[in-house]
Amino acid sequence: YKTVSENIASKSANALNRKAPLPPDGIQSVAQTYAEFKRLSSALNAQRNARSSVGERVRRSSQENDLEAKTAALLEAVKIKEDIAQLEPALALVEESLLARALSIPNDTHPSSPLGPESAAVTLSTHGPDPIPPTPERDHVTIARKFGLLDFESGVTVTGSSWYYLMNEAALLEMALTNYAISIAVRHGFTPVTTPDVVRSEIASRCGFQPRDNSDPPVSQAYHLSSKSADLVLSATSEIPLAGMFANKVYQAGALPLKVAGLGHAFRAEAGARGTDTRGLYRVHQFTKVELFAVTAQDASEEMMEEMRLVQTSILKGLGIPFRVLDMPTEELGASAYRKYDMEAWMPGRGSWGEVSSLSNCTDYQSRRLHIRYDTVPTTFAHTLNATAAAIPRLIVALLENGVVFDEHGEPIAIALPEVLRPFWIGGSERTII
Ligand code: AMP
Repeated sequence: YKTVSENIASKSANALNRKAPLPPDGIQSVAQTYAEFKRLSSALNAQRNARSSVGERVRRSSQENDLEAKTAALLEAVKIKEDIAQLEPALALVEESLLARALSIPNDTHPSSPLGPESAAVTLSTHGPDPIPPTPERDHVTIARKFGLLDFESGVTVTGSSWYYLMNEAALLEMALTNYAISIAVRHGFTPVTTPDVVRSEIASRCGFQPRDNSDPPVSQAYHLSSKSADLVLSATSEIPLAGMFANKVYQAGALPLKVAGLGHAFRAEAGARGTDTRGLYRVHQFTKVELFAVTAQDASEEMMEEMRLVQTSILKGLGIPFRVLDMPTEELGASAYRKYDMEAWMPGRGSWGEVSSLSNCTDYQSRRLHIRYDTVPTTFAHTLNATAAAIPRLIVALLENGVVFDEHGEPIAIALPEVLRPFWIGGSERTII
C-alpha cells in the first residue's frame, strides 16, 4: 500500500499500458484509503493502550479505597470501551476496501516487455520442423472423428457444449503426455504434486484471478460452488493451489528456490469466448494440465524464468512439432505477470499458430498478497513464477494435425506420434501409432 501510495503517477501509467481494470475511483483512492487505514489503526492502538492504563488505575484506586478516583477511572473505561467498539468494525471495513482496491492494481512491467496488444508480441525463437502449409483436411475434429478419439455429443448431454470425452488412443495420449511432461520436470528438479481442483475464491483473487470481472452485471470466469461454509471456486489452473501451498510461510533464504510440478484440472467458464476457437478441443471448459511453479529470492527470478523456459522448450521439442516463443506485450500480461512468454505450436488444420504454453514471472505480486517471505533482515517477499508444462487438449490438437498420415487417395490412415511418448504409453509399442 505504501509503495502504491508513493508512486501514484507511475502505477497509473503502468496500469494504462496494461489496459488493467482499475478501481472505479482510480489508483489515487488507494492512497486515500491507506491514509484512512493508518489513521484508524493508530486511533485504535491508542485506545487499546488507554484501556490497559485505565484498568491499572481502577485496580490501584480500589486498593487505596479512593472512591472518587475509582469512579472517574470507571467512567473513562466505559468511554474507551465504546470507542474501541466503534473503531474495530470501522477499521475492518477500511481494510477490506483497501485490499479490494490493491487487488485490482497490476504488477509492474519488465522494461523489455513490448508495449501494446497481442499483435505487438516479439518472437524470441522458433523450433522444430518447418510448418506444413495450412491444410483443412488436417483439422483435428475431422481426424478425431475418423479414428473415434472424441465424443462431444455425450459431453453436451452430460454437461453442455465445449465439454468432451477423450476416447481410445486420445485418452491414452492424455496419460502419456501428462507423465512425459512430469518426467522432464522431475529431471529438472521439480517436485511432483497433485493439487486440489477446488480453491477458496480469496486465494484465487490473491493470485491475480478475480473470480468476477468489472462488467455490469459482473461476468464470472470461474465456476462457483455453492457451499455454506466457504466461498469456493473450481480452480482455473493449478497455479492457484500451488501458489497457495506456500502462503503465510517464511523460508530460509538458503532453502530457495522451491520448484514444484503440479498435476490438476483447469476449469474455465470462457464467458464471452466465441468464433472458430470454440470448435473442437481448442477452447474447452475443463482440461488436464501439468503446471510448473517456483518460489525464488528476488534477485533469482529472471534466471528462474529462463530455466523454466528451458524445461518447456525441452518438452515441446521432444514432441517434434513446430513451435515459437513470444515475449508478450503489456496488454497480455494480466494482473500478476511482470513478464510473460507464450509458446505457440503450428496447427496446420486450423491454419494458424495456437498458444500451447505460457510462462510468467509474477515477481512479488502473489507473494505480497499471499504472504510468502524469506528470512533476510527484515523478511522480504519472495518472487513466484508459473509455467505450463503440458496443457493437454491443445497438445492433442497440434499432435493430430501435424502427425496425421494420408494414403495416396488422401484418406487419413494413421497418426504418427512422437517416440518420446513410447515409455509412457499404456499397452506397449504396438499402440504408439494410431
Ligand atoms: P493460461 O493459464 O490461460 O495461460 O493457459 C495455459 C495454457 O492452457 C494455454 O497456453 C493453453 O495451452 C491452455 N488453455 C487455456 N485455456 C484453454 C481452454 N479454454 N481450453 C483448452 N486449453 C486452454
